[in-house]
Amino acid sequence: MSAATRVGIGFDAHRFSGARTLVLGGVEIQGVPGLQGYSDSDVLAHAVIDAVLGAAALGDIGRLYPDTDPMYENADSIELLRDAVARLGAAGWQVVNVDATVICERPRISEYAGEMAERLAAALGVAADRVSVKGSTSEGMGFTGREEGIATIAIAQVEGVDG
Ligand SMILES: [Zn+2]
Repeated sequence: MSAATRVGIGFDAHRFSGARTLVLGGVEIQGVPGLQGYSDSDVLAHAVIDAVLGAAALGDIGRLYPDTDPMYENADSIELLRDAVARLGAAGWQVVNVDATVICERPRISEYAGEMAERLAAALGVAADRVSVKGSTSEGMGFTGREEGIATIAIAQVEGVDG
């Protein structure tokens, strides 16, 4: 009998802010402004957290790690992802694979995609070849096209541990 599987989706967007270092998928990137907001504002890690939590119907990042809690100010989002995966495990699920698309005009995601996938995979508890990170642009249209910020969509598949 095959294990029960589920899928979840995550979306996130953050505005550029010169005040910080850009962190995407746990990888620091120089030469591009950082992002404003919650924790370290790792928009890729946040979308993956929501995809993973969504697959197991365990809530969302804003509910589990509220930005009103000073504990999460400048938090390392890779550690939040690790915590989300631990919650998943406690509920009887493990990650099968994750696919994410980062939407921005810059930086060029392909230059960092392998390293991002490795960082995410380590936190997800899976081999790096089960994590896909892709870049796309919106061809100058909308807020990512005007380089106001970065958006990410992610999907995660999980399976029952004892399924
Ligand atoms: Zn976020």
